[in-house]
Amino acid sequence: MSNNQVRPIQRDLKQDDLLVITGAGGFIGGSLVRYFHDLGYTRIRAVDKKPLRNWYQRTPGVENLCLDLSQSEACVRAVENAVEVYNFAADMGGMGFIERFRVECMRSSLINTHMLEAAYQAGVNRYFFSSSACVYNTLLQQDPNVRALKESDAYPAMAERGYGWEKLFAEMLCQEYWAERHMKTFMARFHNVYGPHGTWDGGREKAPAAICRKVIQAKDTGTHEIMIWGDGTQTRSYTYIEDCVLGIDMIVHCDELIATPINLGSSELISVDNLVSLAEEIGGVKLKRKYDPTAPRGVAGRNSDNTFIKQIFGWEPSTRFKDGLTKTYAWIEQQYYARKAGERVVEDTM
Ligand code: NAD
Repeated sequence: MSNNQVRPIQRDLKQDDLLVITGAGGFIGGSLVRYFHDLGYTRIRAVDKKPLRNWYQRTPGVENLCLDLSQSEACVRAVENAVEVYNFAADMGGMGFIERFRVECMRSSLINTHMLEAAYQAGVNRYFFSSSACVYNTLLQQDPNVRALKESDAYPAMAERGYGWEKLFAEMLCQEYWAERHMKTFMARFHNVYGPHGTWDGGREKAPAAICRKVIQAKDTGTHEIMIWGDGTQTRSYTYIEDCVLGIDMIVHCDELIATPINLGSSELISVDNLVSLAEEIGGVKLKRKYDPTAPRGVAGRNSDNTFIKQIFGWEPSTRFKDGLTKTYAWIEQQYYARKAGERVVEDTM
């Protein structure tokens, strides 16, 4: 495909085919539920282990189930009669979480193992697994001016300890379910997804949400100071949620990508210091920066090489970071003041 001709999505789906989305009480799963609902799909089953009142988004007309998918029976129930399955359920968070809670991250292998087998037994047409840029060899990510990572850079393997290895294992499992059992599996390696309706407080949040919250808080409390994890030079690329859900739809409905991991990420590289400057600009404030070199910082640099996705679709995630961050900041600010006023901040649209 050429860059200016985006390949149309060809779904082999009827409007009332059952779509099952797990981890749907969380950020990306919840956003995908809404996306398919808005496209007119009438049978969507959303599954998460959190109690319903804690789901980030609830979409009207959707069947919501609270199940712990680390149990095989729960997975069997979750995928009953499903035509397509999108698995986002995982115990995860930003660097603060995945460096500290490796056991929780690795226990997601229970979810991935049981979900694949249940989907296979149920005869689903297409199965999506949410992988991560954390599968990439960490030795290639030791410089902030990093070379962007292409799909083949996951091997020889030296993934992020815990979380990254678990994702790599699950990718291989997906590949073998296709090779040996002919279930069509798809997997995208997400690069730092952000946007409204994501985690913004509590320890699992990622850098864009954490920095927005800190800027909002510093303004509100009048401290005019911000604590930055690391030395501010770490670089990442950040993917806006709308690009992410569109990319998932494209990937799952493209047979060239069966059992083939693909980057789903922006290629706009941003340092943490730049991120703070953008959030300050959006908030209309200038803060005194303090750095915590002992805080979790992850690899020095990571970016997405989008050669493959552009070749397949003539498309790549392209929301400018400043535009996505402006929307994210506005949403977090609204959540922050709602919470301060004693209101519930988990959105309930039912
Ligand atoms: P999230 O934490 O907002 O959502 C994950 C959801 O899974 C949560 O609501 C959680 O309650 C649920 N869950 C956990 N264990 C479960 C279980 N045993 N049974 C049922 N539900 C369970 O995370 P997210 O940002 O929406 O990420 C979704 C997926 O994408 C995850 O697999 C994550 O590893 C992957 N991913 C996300 C990013 C990112 O930047 N957000 C980057 C790379 C990969």
